[in-house]
Amino acid sequence: MVFPFNSVQDFQILIDEDVELFRKAVREVVENKVLPRWQEIEKTNTIPKEIFEEFAQQGFFGVGFPEEYGGQGGGQLLTAVLTEEVARAVPSLAVAIGVNHLFGIPILLFGTEEQKKKYITPIAQGKAFGAHANTEPCCGSDVAGIQSKARKVNDHYVITGRKIFISGAEKADYFIVSARTSPPTEKRWWGISVFVVERDTPGLKIGQRFNVVGMRGEQPYEVILDEVKVPAENLVGPENEGFKVIVTTYDYTRIGIAAQAVGIAQATFEAAVNYALQREAFGKRLIEFEMIIQKLADMYMKLEAARLLTYWAATLADQGRREFVIASSLAKAFATEAAEWIARQSVQIHGGVGVDEETGVVRYLRDSIITTIYEGTNEIQRLTIVRQLVRQVFGLKI
Ligand SMILES: Cc1cc2nc3c(=O)[nH]c(=O)nc-3n(C[C@H](O)[C@H](O)[C@H](O)COP(=O)(O)OP(=O)(O)OC[C@H]3O[C@@H](n4cnc5c(N)ncnc54)[C@H](O)[C@@H]3O)c2cc1C
Repeated sequence: MVFPFNSVQDFQILIDEDVELFRKAVREVVENKVLPRWQEIEKTNTIPKEIFEEFAQQGFFGVGFPEEYGGQGGGQLLTAVLTEEVARAVPSLAVAIGVNHLFGIPILLFGTEEQKKKYITPIAQGKAFGAHANTEPCCGSDVAGIQSKARKVNDHYVITGRKIFISGAEKADYFIVSARTSPPTEKRWWGISVFVVERDTPGLKIGQRFNVVGMRGEQPYEVILDEVKVPAENLVGPENEGFKVIVTTYDYTRIGIAAQAVGIAQATFEAAVNYALQREAFGKRLIEFEMIIQKLADMYMKLEAARLLTYWAATLADQGRREFVIASSLAKAFATEAAEWIARQSVQIHGGVGVDEETGVVRYLRDSIITTIYEGTNEIQRLTIVRQLVRQVFGLKI
């Protein structure tokens, strides 16, 4: 046993040739169509619609969704590679892809055949967008504490509540929404249910836009639900067991956050190496100074460790291994903190140029901070890691 795993073979990362071909194809599209527009995206805080159209045409929105529902197939690993390549250029565009998965994965895992056909197909084809509305003013980490309510009335549910920090809300056609269908019992998690709500349903309103520090182009919104009536068939998973739907979704989607972080770290590391090779001070190139060499070596160590953890978590998830839950938390917490640290070092290596918005270095630092917070803060990842470890090895619940 390689505590807490069973065998050294559990540490395999399985990547076939097609994944590398796909990565190259994504890079080409991103470098030609996305990267040249990063300044426009930062300034307007909007991703141009032609970029979404291009991604739809390339089939990128279908990656990670089964072919039978209009997707391109591929699992967590392919999704991670796509996310990493996109985040390397414009991290907020990777968020836009991730949000579709936050919408689609709960339906894939817990939804009915009809829900999959109706809602995943247009998302996977890039014809519609999804969003995931769980966080509330009272509660983000504490998913079991949410206060939105849904009551069953004949053949439909009526939902009332307020959601905050909802990424992609302004362009979403469909929302995953969590709400309490029964009062809390001694099992705090019990009593929450998850629904698909269509955007044009009366009573659903997009509220204020939050002005967060990074991920410009994909700022989150408030979503207000005032007596929103949804058909009973839009319930995703069993009534009152929506907590499991939500947290199981994050087990998968946080691999995508780790991949965003790897893309950010890759971009800022490359920028730092290039700058250190070209910039001279005191008659020498920066890369010849020992303190700069040490920084670059440490940045590179963390970058590759982050990448390996991310690909490993994705491989375990694609193999259907339950242990992927620990690996995805390890990857999310490590990669996002590595990205923040690497981005900070990159700014430092660039000196004054590093903090000038026009050079595009400091934006990655701002974006990286957000990755440490959403889809389970890194404190919550640490809780998950130790809880899962103790459960897996000792069968104990803490
Ligand atoms: C840019 C952005 C986009 C987002 N997009 C979405 C979205 O699309 N959909 C959605 O539903 N939500 C979204 N969120 C919300 C996000 O998931 C939450 O902000 C996050 O889960 C943290 O919740 P909170 O903000 O309520 O912080 P809190 O839960 O109040 O936490 C505050 C601090 O306390 C710590 N803490 C809390 N509980 C514990 C504990 N048990 N042990 C140790 N420390 C703890 C946290 O780690 C954190 O440091 C987004 C947030 C941001 C910033």
